Amino acid sequence: MKHKLKMTVRELYARLLFHTGLHAVVNAVMPRRLTILAGHCVSPSPSSEHLPAEMKIDVAKLESILGWFKSRYSMCTVGEGVTELAKSNGKSLVALSMDDGYRDNHRVMQPMLQKLGIGATVFLEARALDERRVNWSHKFFWILTKVSIADFIHRYGELCKDERTYHVANQYVTEGRDDPVYQFKRLLKYETDPHDRDRVIDLVFAELGGDETKLADLLYVTWDEARAMQAAGIELGGHTISHAILSKLSPDEQAREIGGGRDALVKQLGREIPTFAYPWGRRWDFDEHSEAAALRAGFKTAVTMHAGTNRPDTKPTRLHRLAIDENAKLHLLVAEACGGFALAAKFGLKLSE
Ligand SMILES: [Zn+2]
Repeated sequence: MKHKLKMTVRELYARLLFHTGLHAVVNAVMPRRLTILAGHCVSPSPSSEHLPAEMKIDVAKLESILGWFKSRYSMCTVGEGVTELAKSNGKSLVALSMDDGYRDNHRVMQPMLQKLGIGATVFLEARALDERRVNWSHKFFWILTKVSIADFIHRYGELCKDERTYHVANQYVTEGRDDPVYQFKRLLKYETDPHDRDRVIDLVFAELGGDETKLADLLYVTWDEARAMQAAGIELGGHTISHAILSKLSPDEQAREIGGGRDALVKQLGREIPTFAYPWGRRWDFDEHSEAAALRAGFKTAVTMHAGTNRPDTKPTRLHRLAIDENAKLHLLVAEACGGFALAAKFGLKLSE
């Protein structure tokens, strides 16, 4: 109930700021900030078709959000934004970032950005480009284009060594719980042995005729396309080799994932790569070893998936971002970007997500 009340107040406050024009007043009085939007895929596109709504945003919707900000804020890449924020004066900054390196970023988003005349940052999962391999979550979503979630869980249970995962997942379906796809994915992500999960998903993927190279070609840009994005003003950043949950790895393994991903980018793109995004990006997905490894690898900044905006004193390895997807609401993004939620927090009202 408390949460529901908070969400209602948050919604009303954001609408008030947005529709009365008060956001401009707040933006003028609040200290300058960098807002980083975070998305994955742009639709309509073949690469985003079978992915869930929280992983994609319609290109026209994204264009209207960026267009709104462009006329009022300084648009930048993540790297430019951090550098610019350290300077004393100027408008507040807004950067668009997209994770993983989906092909639609090049084919659909890049022309839209060029039309608007703005850049963005795309974080690349190096193995997908180097070896045309996809991480387990993409095989998971692909499998669900072939069989129902109930059938998938049933087959998973027959093949896996971890009976608990099967039983919990099966309950989601038999008890008719909300969003069993999300719940099963969460279970596979955090609560099962990753080697067993990968083995079973590989088996089911193969049984259903899955072709990993073909799926990688559908989903991810090639290095040539990455270079084309770079030439069009898109900054490319690191996102590890294989999109592993860093906090589950040893410090050495983390260093290999983060540093190896950066080496691949430097080799292929031949430029300074200042920015990094933690895979999955929640605070339990990375730890202090990940932060240290990112800096040691040569990254200057690292972005998370924790909501909020950034000020010059925000820790450079814990930059905040605002997720954008099909359900993104401009008034909520604006309330964050103008400093509206930061202002409310000064009065003890925590409205940021
Ligand atoms: Zn990612």
